[in-house]
Amino acid sequence: MAKVLLPTGPAEPLDYRVPDRLRGNLQVGCRVTVPLGRGDRPRVGYCVGLESGPVARRLKEVHGLVDEQCLLSPPMFRLSQWIAEHYLCTWSQALDAILPAAVRQHAGTRRATMVSLVDGVADRIDTVKLPAKQMQVLRYLAAGTRPVALAELMTAVPCTHAPIAALRRKGLVQAATARVRQEHYAKPAPDREANHALNEDQERALETIRAALESRRQQSIVLHGITGSGKTEVYIRAIQEMIAYGRQAIVLVPEISLTPQAEERFRARFGQVAVLHSHMTDAERGWQWERIAREEVSVVVGARSAIFAPVPRLGLIVVDEEHEGSFKQDSAPRYHARDVALERARAEEVPLVLGSATPSLESWHRAQSGVYQLVEMPRRVLDRPLPDVRTIDLRNQFERGAFAGALSRPLRLAMQDALGQGGQVILLLNRRGYATHLQCPSCGAVVRCPHCDIALTHHRQKAIALCHYCDYEIPAPHACPECDVPGIRYSGLGTEKLEAEVRTRFPEARSLRMDTDTMQATGSHERALAAFRSGEVRILLGTQMIAKGLDFPDVTLVGVVNADTALHLPDFRAAERTFQLLVQVAGRTGRGPRGGRVLVQTFSPDHPAIQAAVRHDYRAFADRELPLRRLLGYPPYAEMIRIVVRGERENTTFEFARSLADCCAAELKRSTGATRILGPAPAPIGKLRGQYRFQVQLQGPDASVLRAAVRHAQTALKPPDDVQWTADVDPLDML
Ligand code: ADP
Ligand code: ZN
Repeated sequence: MAKVLLPTGPAEPLDYRVPDRLRGNLQVGCRVTVPLGRGDRPRVGYCVGLESGPVARRLKEVHGLVDEQCLLSPPMFRLSQWIAEHYLCTWSQALDAILPAAVRQHAGTRRATMVSLVDGVADRIDTVKLPAKQMQVLRYLAAGTRPVALAELMTAVPCTHAPIAALRRKGLVQAATARVRQEHYAKPAPDREANHALNEDQERALETIRAALESRRQQSIVLHGITGSGKTEVYIRAIQEMIAYGRQAIVLVPEISLTPQAEERFRARFGQVAVLHSHMTDAERGWQWERIAREEVSVVVGARSAIFAPVPRLGLIVVDEEHEGSFKQDSAPRYHARDVALERARAEEVPLVLGSATPSLESWHRAQSGVYQLVEMPRRVLDRPLPDVRTIDLRNQFERGAFAGALSRPLRLAMQDALGQGGQVILLLNRRGYATHLQCPSCGAVVRCPHCDIALTHHRQKAIALCHYCDYEIPAPHACPECDVPGIRYSGLGTEKLEAEVRTRFPEARSLRMDTDTMQATGSHERALAAFRSGEVRILLGTQMIAKGLDFPDVTLVGVVNADTALHLPDFRAAERTFQLLVQVAGRTGRGPRGGRVLVQTFSPDHPAIQAAVRHDYRAFADRELPLRRLLGYPPYAEMIRIVVRGERENTTFEFARSLADCCAAELKRSTGATRILGPAPAPIGKLRGQYRFQVQLQGPDASVLRAAVRHAQTALKPPDDVQWTADVDPLDML
């Protein structure tokens, strides 16, 4: 009997009888077609269990297998169970995350008739008497080892259908349908680059990973290396050693750093590398997936979802920039690739390396408490110094009086200096658009999105006011929409305005803006970076997109236009995010022989997160932040589940949020331990896309207790038709 889970059917698997012809071929994890309902409509599902023994007579039969080969290996099948369990999603959602749609739909393949010799014919080919064309076909097939597609055979011989059909009738060749790939995109392997001679710190880090590879139990390692300390070189060496054992590696990197240049860096060392990211065609993704499964590549480099790459003999997982928020998926299943990586590493008993200049406090805490090993690389390669970082106090009246726009006088002078000496400049401003606020000077009304609880941002080029959450837009208003008074005030600073100011101040230096508005076209990211690399562009300005991973030796100045943009968000990680962003962007300079420096404009120069970033002092930051987290019962000292309830009617939405909170609270009471429940309360973004949002937050030392409470609510409560709710386990997004 087979237990079959249907993605569009009931949440529980259904029982089906396994016909004799499928016995032996059908494994757990395979996709099958089964009849469902009165009309016995065929549906595709996953076989999630096989049981032997007598079965009830009236059970329906499994129709057949969907795929020629089972797409889910046993470890990946178990991982799907873990994801459903851990992230409180349905099993189907977890399975669908692991098997991408491109693979499920066989993107880039077609069904073809494959022709091959019947067994034994090749040996007696000289003894059979045949017309010339038929003989040619036979010899062509005998020369190869694999079945040949019918169309290909007909062009290669060349011949018509007739001789092939005749050979089939004589029982000399056979035909079967199979899936074939239409195209192959494998790039030729580039010239191999030599390894760097590792420095002492890198050697030590490699030694630790090596010891973990050779050890008999799974180990996780936090590689805390400052920006430019040569972490990637360490990953590459570790992977090389592991490949020598016939194993494969997965390297996860944030989507944003998955540039063709990063890909080249790996290809230059490993030849063939499979790359997985979100901007590829389905056909390409399907092809990459297949060559990984067939062991044609040893290294998979990819964003979040690459953690599900079907590598058959996994030897090592690396998560680079492990603190990056983009490793968490913001729709179901709301998994964090780093945490899934840990689970996969444990299940397959391979080392996990978590690299970062600014480790997440979660990982740091585990390293401090001995769950993970810690290796530090506190120096840059080739003894390059870290850049000098200074703050510019925006409260300072002298400095404020000296400028009216985005760039203070000291920053402007520093830019002049850097450009004058042939250096390049990076300016960070984590807000896109022109003016971030449109306010009526008469009645004080701020122009808001009618669907969201968000102020509209002015985009001057397009002459619109835009909602950054739902893309609602109106023509940029000249009068107040509330009181009709003309002369609405545009204030607040976005990258578009910064760009205008930079162009006016530095007309002779070419500048380029990188944010999601200018980087829409495919390849634009790459073209922008190439223009900066070539030196044609002197000033690169933009959002956090430019803060990470870039390695340009001529950047001698980084300016942070406003360090406070994330500091006051209602999010317990606000300080951590600010610290990480400042350290990362500071790391973009001083990477070449010219050195570099960083100027940070801020209204809160004394804030501990900013102070720690100025001194490149991760420990100072962590040592101050962790006790606060402990005091408030936040991660990494407690587990957290955040529930968001959404609905168009404020009252019913709130009422349901309240019953949800009550239901969870009642469940939590039954357990011991210091659990707590916050809410229901309006979410920081109280309205989004026309829906009111309320949040309920569960915190406590034991995640399984919190999960049990939510799971109970999932089955016990039925929301009104127009109310939806989601549970986010280990949430990163607190808005
Ligand atoms: P990180 O990822 O820690 O910021 P990278 O791995 O990108 O640092 O290394 C920074 C630069 O230093 C790269 O250009 C890299 O090729 C180079 N590099 C790495 N290791 C060495 C070494 N041992 N000797 C010389 N250069 C190195
Ligand atoms: Zn909106």
